[in-house]
Amino acid sequence: MIRKFISRVLGRKKPGKQNEPAVIAVAQHGLQREEISRACRRTVETLQENGYQAFIVGGAVRDLLAGLTPKDFDVATNATPEQVRHCFRRSRIIGRRFQIVHVNMGAETIEVTTFRGHHGEQGGNKAQVDDQGRVLRDNVFGSQAEDAARRDFTVNALYYDPTSETIVDYHHGVADLQQKTLRMIGDPKTRYREDPVRMLRAVRLAAKLGLAIDPEARRPIREMGSLIENVPPSRLFDEILKLLTSGHAVRCVTQLREEGLHHGLLPLLDVILDQALGERFVTLALGSTDRRVREGKPVSPGFLFATLLWHEVLSKWEPLKAAGEPAIPSLFQAMDEVLDVQAEKLAITRRIAGDIKDIWALQPRFEQRSGKRPYGVLQQPRFKAGYDFLLLRVGSGEVGNEVGEWWTDFLHASDEGRAAMLLPQAPGTARKRRRRRPTTDVTPDSAPE
Ligand code: ATP
Ligand code: MG
Repeated sequence: MIRKFISRVLGRKKPGKQNEPAVIAVAQHGLQREEISRACRRTVETLQENGYQAFIVGGAVRDLLAGLTPKDFDVATNATPEQVRHCFRRSRIIGRRFQIVHVNMGAETIEVTTFRGHHGEQGGNKAQVDDQGRVLRDNVFGSQAEDAARRDFTVNALYYDPTSETIVDYHHGVADLQQKTLRMIGDPKTRYREDPVRMLRAVRLAAKLGLAIDPEARRPIREMGSLIENVPPSRLFDEILKLLTSGHAVRCVTQLREEGLHHGLLPLLDVILDQALGERFVTLALGSTDRRVREGKPVSPGFLFATLLWHEVLSKWEPLKAAGEPAIPSLFQAMDEVLDVQAEKLAITRRIAGDIKDIWALQPRFEQRSGKRPYGVLQQPRFKAGYDFLLLRVGSGEVGNEVGEWWTDFLHASDEGRAAMLLPQAPGTARKRRRRRPTTDVTPDSAPE
């Protein structure tokens, strides 16, 4: 057992071995050529006809082998970006630091990448790293073996050639996939130091593919999790969004907590998931997102982050209200505080932050079910999102059932039906409000949308 372990560790590190990939035939791997999009096959064939090596690589091969539908198809080749561009009329080079070529085929765009080389010392090209060892630049062309070695997990380093229908496998990726293991290529600690996002990718891919993270790759995550703080917030945002919209958000978030990775990443999760109500709310929200993704429906990032951050807002808003602050201005104050803290960790774009605020700002307005106000709420551009959000609050027990039912009925009622549903105004409120309006900065109806 120990010998096997040692030989596995040593075996993987011997450079000679990495250069002899297994070439796996269709009888063993089972991936059918027809499962690859026509545009992608055409791209590979054209490159091959021009004398270059070309393969479908990465997530698409992995997902097809696992019985999932790939999101997109990537091609890897030994042709340089210039050479690729010369093979296709409708193509252009994008990216500055590491150039890739977008090939347009019909309605599809295929991303073609030149094999990347070593960035370690062996290759003679020492990569630029930051103080923590995070790789900043990584733009050297290389051989196919080198390209495979710099990918993250063995299941992501598979090269499928649709012409011969074989898979070139340098790191036992096909076997790992069959054994349902997510294994890091190389030393996991080094690979996490180079790019801490790989820890999040491990969690996401394991959840998406139903794989167990190999103990060697799993163990260091707990101690190295804090390195994620050095990742630029915009990259982190992209990765978290991928995770939350993977269709397996519940499983991903559960696993993030198990690995201790949620600390600092989504500060809200630390606090919220420890309260029963918060946990119920987030779980409901992520569950409904997962269902939507699996049904092929769009999910809005604004809605998602609004749900994840809501209980954080509540925890700031409620003490303000209890201290006698007026409800609406203090809600806006709580919203801004939460979004400011979050912005330091994750770069939530301005547009998404706007969506989030719209959804939150609608919530107190659902409490008003008398007079003209409910009609005004119906007219809000983000009404539907705000209403779906309200239903989640009802589902989690934060808001009474009758509020959700009232709005559902009001939404579907006729004009007369709606008029009949309006609750009587509390005595004196209409007059009081009218009198106070000119001197009040923000009332529910004049609150910024
Ligand atoms: P999905 O497309 O389902 O999100 P993916 O694995 O295809 O997952 P991409 O970001 O599309 O993810 O990356 C394509 C390929 O590039 C991966 O399969 C992997 O081989 C490689 N790769 C991506 N990110 C990294 C990384 N951080 N470190 C090393 N290799 C990576
Ligand atoms: Mg991909």
